[in-house]
Formats: sequence, structure tokens, C-alpha cells
Amino acid sequence: MPPIPSETHPAALPLTTAADVPEDQWNDWRWHMRKRINTVEKAQKWIRTTPAEEKAIAESAGKYRWSLTPYYASLMDPDDPLCPVRQQAVPSLGELMEYHGTDVDPVGDMFYRKTNRVVHKYPDRVIMLITEACPVYCRHCTRKFHTTDVDGTYFEKNEGEDFTADLQYIADHPEIRDVLLTGGDPLSYMDGKLEEIISGLRAIPSVEIIRIGSRFPVLLPQRITTELCEMLARYHPVWLNTHFNHPKEITPESEQAIDRLLRHGIPVGNQTVLLRGVNDEVDTMRKLMTELLRIRVRPYYLYHCDNVTGVAHFMTSVEKGWEIMEGLQGHITGFGVPQYVLTTRLGKIPMAQPSYKQVPEGLLLRNYKGQEMVVSQDVYPVTEPSADHGDGGR
Ligand SMILES: *Cc1c(COP(=O)(O)O)cnc(C)c1O
Ligand code: SF4
Repeated sequence: MPPIPSETHPAALPLTTAADVPEDQWNDWRWHMRKRINTVEKAQKWIRTTPAEEKAIAESAGKYRWSLTPYYASLMDPDDPLCPVRQQAVPSLGELMEYHGTDVDPVGDMFYRKTNRVVHKYPDRVIMLITEACPVYCRHCTRKFHTTDVDGTYFEKNEGEDFTADLQYIADHPEIRDVLLTGGDPLSYMDGKLEEIISGLRAIPSVEIIRIGSRFPVLLPQRITTELCEMLARYHPVWLNTHFNHPKEITPESEQAIDRLLRHGIPVGNQTVLLRGVNDEVDTMRKLMTELLRIRVRPYYLYHCDNVTGVAHFMTSVEKGWEIMEGLQGHITGFGVPQYVLTTRLGKIPMAQPSYKQVPEGLLLRNYKGQEMVVSQDVYPVTEPSADHGDGGR
């Protein structure tokens, strides 16, 4: 891909790289939060912005939030606007275009919302949307109207409203045994406030597991400090799911953050979103999944990109998802293969195509190479033996 020259970036201006930042600052997540990039001028220290990006940044201002950590900016190809890291985090004109069938909330969070923060859609588990803040505002965020839309927000009341009603709802519904903290990014809170929330959950006897959905390991892994991990470990069982979308995001820093979580007994899973032009190729996904296994992160979900307002330009066809899944299944170990799902108002729908089909003789099976065989009903019964046959269930 030849670089698209910028008309506005002063070519002579040297770019900043991670190596230019003193190590103690680079390793300090607070430094990255203070130095977040939210203007073209600041971005041009790290990348050569294109006129299209500059236009998108100007036109999306006041509509969608935008912010980059220097860490995440440092992963970008400074000369290639199609860099997969860059496309996830730098505004593009596609966000402002109209697409068919978009919705701000296609997954129906608002419909299932029971309190300011609790969304109760499944019988035994809830999500708690505890903040709107993220270190980087991903352009493909499924909750774009929650996290990055400047006007629209889930929170009718102040985001800072106390948690009494949310915790009370969970306590009043003892069938809830699994609480997933999300948002926004829960780790945007300082450790003290986060501990208050988590200890409040732990005080509810019916809550068995606490899960955290956080993209900090990808966007600002320095946030995963030993102190944070020690705090979380006081409230076990705690699980964390993160959101790596491309092998470029797996760096020594992110690997160390994952290692700290694992050493504190926090299992780490990953949810990838299938994004057009970012990771919609079998080779990229195979690399991503095997790299995740190398850093001991278990691939969990592959989300089909939701048809969210401002996100639709990232959407692929379902066929593309099938192609990716077929490129993973059997080619890499089973625990490196995520479940391909489409999130809907009815919940997450498993989307992978079955590798078998019922035929009159029994089952037609297909392996990862496309080889087929039929196994007969006599060998692997498909149907339960019926009482009429009087065969005593074999
Ligand atoms: C995704 C989701 C969950 C968690 O689902 P798992 O399949 O258990 O990871 C819970 N509640 C809502 C509303 C969700 O969208
Ligand atoms: S970190 Fe997660 S919640 Fe925040 S903008 Fe990115 S995808 Fe959305």
C-alpha cells in the first residue's frame, strides 16, 4: 500500500516515537492519560494525518468523542491511513455517512436496562455499565452512542450517581450469579472507586463471579499495575475479557499487562470484532488468535460488527465471518477458535456454520479440509431411541 502523502503535515517535522519518551513516563499510565491526543496538531506528532482524516476529525467534533493514548498512537503506521490500528482509532468520514438499517442501539441495551447501570437480558447474569469513559474511543464501538456520542448517553442521571439502586437490584435478584462490569471502560476509574464498586458486589452473597470488560490491555496496558491486580485479587473469582483486534496490538507492554493479570489469578479472555479493512482476512485472524494463545489469552468471541450508527462502514457480510471461521477451525487448536456471534435484541446468536448435516443415512460430516464422510445412524444415533421400538434404548 503506497503511502498517501499529506498536504498539511510539514514533511520536515520529525515524528515522535516511544523511544523519545523517558521510560518512567512511558511506563506511567497517568502520563498517557494526561498526554492524550485529541487535536490534529497533537496527532501530527505521531502520524502524518491525511486531508481526509483531518476533515473527519473536524466534522466529527461535537458529535463523537475522540482521544488517543500516546501508547496506542505509537502502534500506528505514521504513513499509512489504512493501518489497522489507525483505522480503529482515528476518525474517518465513513462515520458521518448514512447507511441502511443503522440503529444507535441495535442490541437493545436500553430495552433491558433495569436501573441506571444494570442491563438484565439473560437469566443468570447482567452487565453493569459503570462509566462512559475510555482511554481511546474506538471508532467501531458497539455502544458508540454511549461512549463516544457527545450528546446521546445512557445515563439519564449523572454518571456519578451512587450505586445503591444498582447493587440493590442485583441483591434483589438472587438468580444473578455473574456480573460483568463494562461501559465505557471500567478501569477508567481510579483503583479506590473501582474497589468500592467491586466490594459492593462481593458483599452480595448470590454474586458468584465478577467479570470486567476492559480494553486497557490493548489501549494503555500500563494501566494494569501490580497494585490494581492485587486489589482485584482480593475479590476473586474475578475474570477479565479484553478486546484485541489485530496482531499489531500484541506488544511487549500488552504481554506484560496480561502476565500481571494471570499471575494474580485473573483469567483473561478476548473478544474480537470483525472489521472491514482491519481484520477481515483469514491470515490476520489466524495470526491474531495464535498470538493471543502465545500470551495466554483465550479467544472467546468473534463479534459480527453490529449495524450501529457511525460504525456501519466497518461491517462485513456474514459470509466473510463464515470464511474466517472456516480458516480457523481445525487449522489451529480448538481453544484458539472463538465463537462467532451476532448480538441482537434476542441476545448473542451463534453464527458459525455447522460442520455436519443430517441426511437419511445418518450424518454427513465435513472436516476443515472440506473432506466429507457419512456416518450411519447405526454407529452414531442422531435420534433418541423411541419407546415404541421396545429395544430398551439399545
Ligand atoms: C454479552 C452480554 C452478557 C454476557 O454474555 P456472555 O455470553 O455470558 O459473555 C450479559 N448481558 C448482556 C446484556 C450482554 O450483552
Ligand atoms: S474501549 Fe470498548 S467501550 Fe470504549 S470505545 Fe473502545 S470498544 Fe467502546
